[in-house]
Amino acid sequence: MQQSIPDELQHIREQGLYRSLRSVQGRQSAKVEMAGRETLLLCSNNYLGLADHPALARAAVDAVERLGTSSGASRLVSGTMEIHELLESAVSAFKQTEAALIFNSGYAANSGIIPAVVGRGDVVFSDRLNHASIVDGILLSSAKLVRYPHNDIQALDRLLDKYRGTGRCLIVTDGVFSMDGDIALYAELISLKQHHDALLMVDDAHGCGVLGTGGKGSAEMCGVIKDVDIHVGTFGKALGSYGAYAALSLDLRELLINRARSFIFSTSLPPAVVAASLAALELIGTEEGRELRKKLHANASLFRGLLVEAGFHTYGTTQIVPIITGDATVTMEFSRQLLDEGLFVQGIRPPTVPQGASRLRCTVMATHSADDLAWAAERIAAIGKSLGII
Ligand SMILES: *Cc1c(COP(=O)(O)O)cnc(C)c1O
Repeated sequence: MQQSIPDELQHIREQGLYRSLRSVQGRQSAKVEMAGRETLLLCSNNYLGLADHPALARAAVDAVERLGTSSGASRLVSGTMEIHELLESAVSAFKQTEAALIFNSGYAANSGIIPAVVGRGDVVFSDRLNHASIVDGILLSSAKLVRYPHNDIQALDRLLDKYRGTGRCLIVTDGVFSMDGDIALYAELISLKQHHDALLMVDDAHGCGVLGTGGKGSAEMCGVIKDVDIHVGTFGKALGSYGAYAALSLDLRELLINRARSFIFSTSLPPAVVAASLAALELIGTEEGRELRKKLHANASLFRGLLVEAGFHTYGTTQIVPIITGDATVTMEFSRQLLDEGLFVQGIRPPTVPQGASRLRCTVMATHSADDLAWAAERIAAIGKSLGII
């Protein structure tokens, strides 16, 4: 007998996995208005505060006035607009690759690129903690999915040996892991990819704009920007805009134009969004960009330090600061009580993270003040104590 939809919803609730939307009024700044109350936002990926930066807004408005509101079709259908090509040149210069291709989102990039590069008879080696859009891309590809334990290079080496000679091999990893805030082991991955003749794809959604002296991401920070075959990143997080890029060789770009279904069968980004992304990339390279990154890193160490001092278990070194709580129901109660006090932090539960690894995923912004973060850490500690987490 088929399950009714209300029964399925009830089942989701009983598991403590029910999701609902929370309304925010106004713009996505460090403080937002929720139900008429000022609330500190501690769960946004708008790490540098560029989502409401005047330079990006001006670029977007100007593009609407010059170019209108829509691109009208896929770039393969009604012609590719010059502004998309300008953004691709800027991305390939930024990432020091031969070429780049713009996608409509990070999700569309991963779900389009992987099936374009591998198919039946090929193997994808994927870190266990990779983002869902990578997993979906692999499932769409019909290639064999081989998951390796998080950042476990020895296990990956053994698995690459085991599948040696089985078609094309692609290693894919997050650059900065989105739920743990730690970084891929680049040097080891690159030596494995060379040894096993595999391609390396890195999704740096949380590193782009934030890490490295030029803000070029986690690969720049690790000194290996030239050794990655496919860089993926989003414009929707630190870059304060929307859409995504792949930075790669000319041959790979051509392959994607011919094979990536999310590129071929979807209307391309509107000019205003592309213009905002161009303005963001420019800003990242300026003194202002450097100052914002410095502030973000200082805020992240301050906040992480306060949480560790309070006795919480956390990971990583970046602006993503998880507080490990374990149980899904307790996590959601924690998040609810924080919201009552004017602090918005998302609880993250399975299937986003493994069973028993639920957490509050706190993200720090360059636009938080030290006082904001001290207050937040103090409230988190008080509620954490009352819930028996510390
Ligand atoms: C957010 C995220 C994506 C999706 O990017 P969007 O542009 O938001 O669709 C892909 N990969 C990772 C690792 C992410 O964190």
